[in-house]
Amino acid sequence: MNETLQTDVLIIGNGIAGGTAALELARLGVSCLVISKGADESATNTWLAQGGIAALSEEESPDVFKQDIIRSGDGINHPPAVDQVVSRSRELVERILISKLKVPFSKKNGNFDLAREGAHSTRRVLNVKDMTGRVIQQHLVRAVRREAKINMLYRHQAIDLLTYPHHSTNPARQYDEPRVVGAYVLNLDSGRVWRVFARHVILATGGLSSIFLHSTNPTSAVGNGIALAQRTGARLANLEYVQFHPTSLYQKGEEEPFLISEAVRGEGAKLVNRKGDFFMGRYSDQADLAPRDEVSRAIYEEMIRHGDDYVLLDLASFAKINIEERFPTITEHCLNQGLDITARPIPVVPAAHYSCGGVLVDLRGRSSLEGLYAVGEVSCTGVHGANRLASVSLLEGLVWGARAAEDIAKRQKERVEAGLAEEIPPWRYPPQEDEPDPALIWQDMVTIRYTMWNYAGIIRTNRRLDRARSDLDYLRHRILKFYQKVAVTPAIIDLRDSVQTSLLVVEAARHNQVSRGAHFMASNP
Ligand SMILES: Cc1cc2nc3c(=O)[nH]c(=O)nc-3n(C[C@H](O)[C@H](O)[C@H](O)COP(=O)(O)OP(=O)(O)OC[C@H]3O[C@@H](n4cnc5c(N)ncnc54)[C@H](O)[C@@H]3O)c2cc1C
Repeated sequence: MNETLQTDVLIIGNGIAGGTAALELARLGVSCLVISKGADESATNTWLAQGGIAALSEEESPDVFKQDIIRSGDGINHPPAVDQVVSRSRELVERILISKLKVPFSKKNGNFDLAREGAHSTRRVLNVKDMTGRVIQQHLVRAVRREAKINMLYRHQAIDLLTYPHHSTNPARQYDEPRVVGAYVLNLDSGRVWRVFARHVILATGGLSSIFLHSTNPTSAVGNGIALAQRTGARLANLEYVQFHPTSLYQKGEEEPFLISEAVRGEGAKLVNRKGDFFMGRYSDQADLAPRDEVSRAIYEEMIRHGDDYVLLDLASFAKINIEERFPTITEHCLNQGLDITARPIPVVPAAHYSCGGVLVDLRGRSSLEGLYAVGEVSCTGVHGANRLASVSLLEGLVWGARAAEDIAKRQKERVEAGLAEEIPPWRYPPQEDEPDPALIWQDMVTIRYTMWNYAGIIRTNRRLDRARSDLDYLRHRILKFYQKVAVTPAIIDLRDSVQTSLLVVEAARHNQVSRGAHFMASNP
C-alpha cells in the first residue's frame, strides 16, 4: 500500500494561526494540506477564547499599545516582534476577520464595542461578547472549506517531522543542510501512518498547558508541536514562562476545563478558603483585585497549607449586579453542572493557561531549521516576553499565520525540494503490535500532570524542579520503551510528547533562577 501524500505546504493545526496561514496561502496561489488531530474545530484553544482580540484603534498611538505589551512581558520582549504585531494588527483584523470572514464583532451605536481588559491602557479589544474565539473559529473553518486550494483533514495526527538527513536512506544526504521535508501522520480512523511530503511545514499546534493537572486548555493541548520540533533539533525558547489563570472551575471528573473570568472578582466576588477565611487580604493590599500572578500564588499557598483541592469564589454574597445577566455563559455552564452561582460559592483552582515560549521563530515565522515554520501559541516570536498581555495571543496567531504564508508564497520561485518517497522509508510498524494498555497510559499521564503541577507549577523551587526532572526522566525512559513495542495510537503519541514537553519546561525553569513574569522561583521572589 503506497500511503504517501505530496503537498506544497503541510499545516499542522487548524486554530487561528493554522487557519489564517492556509487562507493566506490560498489567496497567494499556493495549495496546502491542513491536518488536525481533533474531530472537529472545537478541539482548539482558539475555540475557547472568551475575551477578544486586540488591535490598534484608529485614535491611538502605536507606542502606547507596544508599551502595554512590553510592560506585561516584564521587558524581555523582542522589540521588532512587538512592532510587527502592533503595526499589522489593524490591517489584518480588518482585511481577514472583518472583510473576508465577516466575523460579527459586537457593536454599539454603529461602532465596534471595544473592551478594555486588564493591563491595557485603552479600549482596543474587539469581541463577540464572551465567545469571540468560537465565532472566529467557525468563520475561519467555513472559509477554509470553500477554498479549492486547501485540503483539510480532521482526525489526522502528526507523529514526527520528516527530515533530511535524519530520515533519509541516501548516504549522500549527510552533506546537505538539515531540512524538514514533511511528516509521518497517523490517520486516527484507519490506524495507518502516512508519509506526507511537503516543501514547507507550518507547525500551528497550539499550547502545552494540559501537561499540568489543572489547565484551561482542551486536554489535547499537550505541546505536540514543541516535542516534534525538539526531536528535529529546532531551537526553542522561553518555555519556563507558563501563564497561570487564577480561577478555573474545579471539577473532579474528566470534564473539559472551564474558565471563571477575572471579571467575576471585578464585580465584587471574594475568595474564601474552605475554613471560611477570606484570605486575599493576608497576601496583598489589593486583596481580591491583586494581579493575576499574585492571586494564583495565594490560592495555591492556601490549598497546600490546608491540604485542599480547591478554594471558593463567593459571588452570590457580594454581587451588586444581576449575576445571570452579567455572566450568562458562566451561570449556564455551572447550572448544567448542578451549581447555582447566584446562591452558592464557586469551587475554583488556578490553572495553566498559556505558553509564552515555544519554537523560536523570526518575523516571518521561520524556525532555525530550513523548511520548518511555527505560528501561534506553539511558537516563540518574542512578542510576549515573560508574560502575555490579554487578547494579544489571537492577534499574534493571525499576524504570524499571515506572515508565514507571505514568506512561503515569495519562495515559490526557489527550487525547494520536498521529500522523496524513495529516500524516506514508510512507517515501520512493530513486528508484533500489542494494543497499548489504557491503564498504563492513564496512570503515566496522571503522574506527569501531578508532577508538573506540584513541582514545576505556580511556585517553583530548585528542590522541586530537581525532583521533577529525575521523576520525569525515569518516566520518559519507561514510556519510550513502551512506545517502541505497541501500536501507535493518539494516546501513546500524546503521552510520549507530554513527557518530553514537560522535561523541556522543567529544564528551562531550572536554568532560570530569576523570578520574572510568569516564572516564579521562591528562592528569588
Ligand atoms: C479558556 C481560554 C481563553 C482564552 N481567551 C483568550 C482571549 O480572549 N484572547 C486571546 O487573544 N487569547 C485567548 N486565549 C489564548 C488563545 O485562545 C490561544 O493562544 C490561541 O487560540 C492559540 O491558537 P493556535 O492557532 O496557535 O492554536 P489552537 O487554536 O490551539 O489550535 C491548535 C491546533 O493544532 C492541532 N494539533 C495539535 N497537535 C497536533 C498534532 N500532533 N497533529 C495534528 N494536529 C495537531 C489541534 O487539534 C488544533 O487544531 C485563551 C485561551 C484559553 C484556553
